[in-house]
Amino acid sequence: MADLKVSEMKDLTRIERIGAHSHIRGLGLDDTLEARTVSQGMVGQKAARKAAGVILQMIKEGKIAGRAVLLAGQPGTGKTAIAMGMAKALGQETPFAMMAGSEIFSLEMSKTEALTQAFRKAIGVRIKEETEIIEGEVVEIQIDRPAATGAASKTGKVTLKTTDMETVYDLGTKMIEALSKEKVQSGDVIAIDKASGKVSKLGRSFARSRDYDAMGPQTRFVQCPDGELQKRKEVVHVVTLHEIDVINSRTQGFLALFAGDTGEIRPEVREQINSKVAEWREEGKAEIIPGVLFIDEVHMLDIECFSFLNRALENEMAPILVVATNRGITRIRGTNYRSPHGIPIDLLDRLLIISTQPYTEEEIRRILDIRCEEEDVEMSEDARELLTKIGHETSLRYAIHLITAAALACQKRKGKEVEIEDISRVYSLFIDVKRSTQFLMEYQEQFMF
Ligand code: ATP
Repeated sequence: MADLKVSEMKDLTRIERIGAHSHIRGLGLDDTLEARTVSQGMVGQKAARKAAGVILQMIKEGKIAGRAVLLAGQPGTGKTAIAMGMAKALGQETPFAMMAGSEIFSLEMSKTEALTQAFRKAIGVRIKEETEIIEGEVVEIQIDRPAATGAASKTGKVTLKTTDMETVYDLGTKMIEALSKEKVQSGDVIAIDKASGKVSKLGRSFARSRDYDAMGPQTRFVQCPDGELQKRKEVVHVVTLHEIDVINSRTQGFLALFAGDTGEIRPEVREQINSKVAEWREEGKAEIIPGVLFIDEVHMLDIECFSFLNRALENEMAPILVVATNRGITRIRGTNYRSPHGIPIDLLDRLLIISTQPYTEEEIRRILDIRCEEEDVEMSEDARELLTKIGHETSLRYAIHLITAAALACQKRKGKEVEIEDISRVYSLFIDVKRSTQFLMEYQEQFMF
């Protein structure tokens, strides 16, 4: 339970940023990695999404070690959204850490320490532990399909909710029976009636219910060689290397995780943890899950940071590094050289570059629709049209921000749905960048004295 809490709160400091992308549930690709026009909260930007999908495929096949991805494109073209989509597509257990290039200059720690922490936040460790099963627990049972059924020995995984130990012990035979009669398949959720021994499938509604969520995939029986179920179960936790670092750092302790302010971690602590994890891996008790580290505004990093990144990517445990920038040719911080995206040539050489394109009005409309739904905002057709126009002429992000503000304006006048008047009100209340610059230019003289 403690571990669950750790992973739940680790991104608290970024809740604002993540909120803006809460509608993204994946990359929205089909089986052939083609991007669907609207899927999993993603709209348009098909070429970039497909490219991201191909990279994910390479990651899954272990073909992309020591490389990184650069998302290049204008502000608000979905670079962060695509990075989020990649992380989501890799699955829940995959850690996703996110930072802006400028953050390393404002933290109270050295730049390399900040980057090391970011890397370690993006490396997960799946730790397996064996414990006793407690009565009434919900468990997942894994059992080999017996060779006697004619089919080749195959692992069937059936999730089951058990209420007492007796049922659990009785299961070995019941499950083998059910599997051999093809009544249930691997992955089905089943219930076994204790009195009659009848096996029934719980169906999709149960699979979507809270009870099922509460089961989690962590609990698993360990099977004895002779096919009998043991009383012990295997519990799996996923934590990040950074969390292990903080918990073991004597000056910090795990409470620092709640504050989000972990300070510097001594190199000895990391060395100890690295060797401990290596030991667990050898004993088969732990596995490394390389996650995704996303660095936005990468042009804000300086030459020392870039050299650190180059080196860190060599590490066998390195996460997939995804960086983003909206700059073209610009100076590399800390040098007098100019370079594409402000990134040194040696690092550029390792990057697979994906470019994002500005959105059409239709795409903006669809993204705004998704955001309205996500924020539970009812909006009239006219208001949506106006907001789309605003988004097209100013920026997508500005239009997204106006949704929340307009909903408040609507609430204030006790309206049922956001109307044109609400949009107009907040449009004049909060100005966009273009109007703000124009305003400053017009009144330059008053501002400059
Ligand atoms: P910047 O260069 O300023 O960092 P960005 O390219 O990272 O911008 P995002 O932050 O990803 O832009 O996009 C702005 C908003 O629009 C976010 O809320 C994002 O989730 C949403 N968004 C962008 N592109 C898409 C898309 N293709 N589908 C759905 N939502 C999107």
